[in-house]
Amino acid sequence: MRALGAQVPAAAAGRTADPLARAIDYPLLVSLGWDPVTKTLAPDRQHPLLGYSICRVAGCESEAWDRSGLCGGCRSRFEAGGEASIEAFAALGARPKNRSRDRRCLVCQIPGFERPVGTNDLCLSCDGLRRRRRQDVAAYVSGDGGYPPAQPRPGLGLCTVAACGRLAARRETGLCGAHDGAWRVAGRPDLAAFRAGASPCLADRSGRVVLAGLGDDVIAEVLYGVQASVAEGRRVLTTNLRGVVGHLRRCGAANVADAVATAAPRTPVRSFLAFTADRAGLVRSDPGTEQEADVWDLRLWGAAGRLSFAGGAASPRYPGAEATPGHHPAVAEGGGQDVGGRGPQYHDGGAGAGRHRRRRAAF
Ligand SMILES: [Zn+2]
Ligand SMILES: [Zn+2]
Ligand SMILES: [Zn+2]
Repeated sequence: MRALGAQVPAAAAGRTADPLARAIDYPLLVSLGWDPVTKTLAPDRQHPLLGYSICRVAGCESEAWDRSGLCGGCRSRFEAGGEASIEAFAALGARPKNRSRDRRCLVCQIPGFERPVGTNDLCLSCDGLRRRRRQDVAAYVSGDGGYPPAQPRPGLGLCTVAACGRLAARRETGLCGAHDGAWRVAGRPDLAAFRAGASPCLADRSGRVVLAGLGDDVIAEVLYGVQASVAEGRRVLTTNLRGVVGHLRRCGAANVADAVATAAPRTPVRSFLAFTADRAGLVRSDPGTEQEADVWDLRLWGAAGRLSFAGGAASPRYPGAEATPGHHPAVAEGGGQDVGGRGPQYHDGGAGAGRHRRRRAAF
């Protein structure tokens, strides 16, 4: 699949500023929950298009997409346990969350000298030294006949996985405990690639979509896809958007259009990617460049459909659009009398119906 930009006529090639960047409404996105510093979208869960239900288990607050009203973790616990009903299970409340990621070493917990707990309430380095000295934890912390009280160690900064905000636990890798474990389990792959491609730790995912680690151009396109979805009344489920980001991380595409073909057919991930590629392609076109193309996209003039001088039914401009049923009127509705080679043809194809269908679609 080619980049959409590659099909912009040469006249536009001299432009340096991407029209997409100008079309992105950052204040709007911030109001929707976008944090440009952490590059994380954490929408209000009451938002009609971006919101979600939370788990019905008392005290759990994770996103719940299951019809049972349970989050994935509670659903697994319910299925493994012997509780007779979901109601009874939900009333029992959430299991105390493992908050070890938020806890600091008993010794290393002052600003600039903070390290996360590894084992025995100490960071990995402190606990390693304690074991070599054969001290118990209290003796290590407060000192004993053989050693003075332990001194805090300089922090290691944040985990070097782009999508992670936890404290780093290991100096050798610069990874937090969870990512360090995942990296080892994965067979110690190339660290640079792992840092760029790893998803946030499971417990850090609920309620947010972390785009950090993706290229700035890809982030801009995804944000524009969210913005266009909201403008058109399309639902964007956080769980699907995380799937989109995960796919983009894995395939490493330089833009959304390139990622469409490698997404599984007929999935919400592909649907969002195709939609976003289409809308990004549209905003990068303008009437000036569009008049030089063989197939005009009439949406640029506020109309629906396409005007073709090439005699073909579908423009090659939006190659991913075919993958989304009901996505583009001219393709999905099969409309327009397509008589090849007889001058301009208007591919209308019930654009109104197509538009309605788009509004109902959910990612
Ligand atoms: Zn839950
Ligand atoms: Zn420590
Ligand atoms: Zn991490």
